[in-house]
Amino acid sequence: MVDRTASAPMRFQGFRRAAVLFARALTLRCPNCGARGILASWFKLVPACPRCHLRPERGESDYFLGGMMFNIGLAEGVFVIALVATLLVTWPRVPWSLLQYGAPAAMVLAPIILYPFSKLVWLAFDLMLRPLVPNDLAGSPRAR
Ligand SMILES: [Zn+2]
Repeated sequence: MVDRTASAPMRFQGFRRAAVLFARALTLRCPNCGARGILASWFKLVPACPRCHLRPERGESDYFLGGMMFNIGLAEGVFVIALVATLLVTWPRVPWSLLQYGAPAAMVLAPIILYPFSKLVWLAFDLMLRPLVPNDLAGSPRAR
């Protein structure tokens, strides 16, 4: 039996393909095939996708350095949006005490909460720019 879902992203072109890759990443599924089980834990990905055998690190030891930078940027962006929204909604009675204690707590928690999302979105972004090649796969699906 042929697993057609493993090669499904190759059928998508342009914006639609990017939307599928990012939607899969944001739902914590393999960006390439959409399979669940790509996370070994909240902070670690499995060595290879259980369905399509994509190696998340794509053969580079420092692969997720970009993912870490993306995580920090995303957390900072969420903070800025939350801060501006709080100021706009509550002005002129801004809850300064809440912001004084809540903002640092949110700045610590946001990168932890967003960590797996940022790794998988980084992988989706990389798959969009640098399509899958046979070396990205751990073993051959036919050998299993
Ligand atoms: Zn997969």
